Amino acid sequence: MFRLLLLSFVFTLALSALSDKEIVKRANGFMQSSNKSNHFRAYNDYKNLYLRSIMSENESLKVTSLRGIVKSGNKLHIDVSQYSNELSTLKPKSVYTKPIRKPTLVKKNTSKKLKIKSSHKLKSIRFINDELVLEFDKKLSTKQINYFTLYDPKKKQYRYVFDIHASMLTSSQTIRKKGIKRIKLAQYTPSTLRLVIEDTKKLKVNYSKRGNLLALRVGDSPRYKKAKAITKTRPPVRLDRNKVLVIDAGHGGKDPGAVGYRKYREKVIVLSIAKKLKTILNSRGYKVYMTRDRDKFVKLSNRTKYANKKNADIFISIHANSVPKRNAHKAYGVECYFLSPSRSGRAKKVAAKENSADLSDMNFYGKQSFLNTLNNHNIIASNKLAIDLQRGMLGSLKKTYKNVKDGGVREGPFWVLVGAQMPSVLVEVGFVSNPKEAKRLVNSSYQKKLAYGLANGVERYFKNSQ
Ligand SMILES: [Zn+2]
Repeated sequence: MFRLLLLSFVFTLALSALSDKEIVKRANGFMQSSNKSNHFRAYNDYKNLYLRSIMSENESLKVTSLRGIVKSGNKLHIDVSQYSNELSTLKPKSVYTKPIRKPTLVKKNTSKKLKIKSSHKLKSIRFINDELVLEFDKKLSTKQINYFTLYDPKKKQYRYVFDIHASMLTSSQTIRKKGIKRIKLAQYTPSTLRLVIEDTKKLKVNYSKRGNLLALRVGDSPRYKKAKAITKTRPPVRLDRNKVLVIDAGHGGKDPGAVGYRKYREKVIVLSIAKKLKTILNSRGYKVYMTRDRDKFVKLSNRTKYANKKNADIFISIHANSVPKRNAHKAYGVECYFLSPSRSGRAKKVAAKENSADLSDMNFYGKQSFLNTLNNHNIIASNKLAIDLQRGMLGSLKKTYKNVKDGGVREGPFWVLVGAQMPSVLVEVGFVSNPKEAKRLVNSSYQKKLAYGLANGVERYFKNSQ
């Protein structure tokens, strides 16, 4: 539930519980008074509405709020010429209507080519007798080979993974061998080849290095030194292990977030998912920090500040959504949001304007750090991250659960993420107001599936962005 957060950030907490309509009414009331501080309250209310109108893409609310800003601003002798200019470009609509939430689906550019960044090239791969032999153009060093094993107890599957610092010309290849379920070779990252041997039974995997050759044998042979396998209990050392993530479990302490079906609280659910995500990512070799690891109140601004301090590569804020009771059965699904100045670019202008204006609540971020978050690189990266996380969650959940709804990837000037200097995404894991989804969200194995999906999304993101 990020909207409440957003308002507590930009404005006072008291405002957050009010609907747009109620704020319009209150602001109009303030304007009726002849008291100057009431005019200022009205001015702030209209600005609040203006930000809301941008986020909900509600044009008529925008007109209402702009009119209010101009009227109150003039009374207070504040320069509101930018607002009146904008107002003059909009169609006048006197009746305020309820916002319609339109999901913006952002399509991923799939035609992206992998840039190869390794000095070693794979020339061939084939079985010679019982050995799987990989031939490279140069001699490999031991440091270039990272071998580990994984076991998936659910699928009862053993995976023997070789990450080799090298590249190949094709993107992926499947190698067949009688008695082994699957052998797959793929360019895992631009600089890493990944060879995976997969089977439902435990295999003995050995390897030896001979000049330009890497020879693998599946089974017993005294000629081979036993491969030093890193088992699941010890996290595999990855080549991109320097990646740092900050996971932000929304709300906490005195702020329960959304309270939904059976009084299930957002703050509890998201913390549990965040912890599971941390465990999974740690086991895959990532460094993970959490903005909170218990039921504690953390100021919104400190969450992104913390991520900046930790020099995080990505920031993921985890939330759960809710709607009023009358829509509880209709609204459900998984959504991802990323901070963007919106396609029109208008929101970016607004953001700049708000920073240069007199809105004191914005001051603690400072103009520059805010604008930094709106640089193009971050937006594109955040968009990509959002798509990968969304895909990851859906992919993981749909394997086990029916009626998992794709709420889509959406963009907008979401202030919750403001201040983060790295790609950042806000994840709405589902609606606690929906009875069916709420029951799932408090279930530990559902949470685990969600966390796995997010972790897979993170991996996919790093893989594609290297
Ligand atoms: Zn929330």
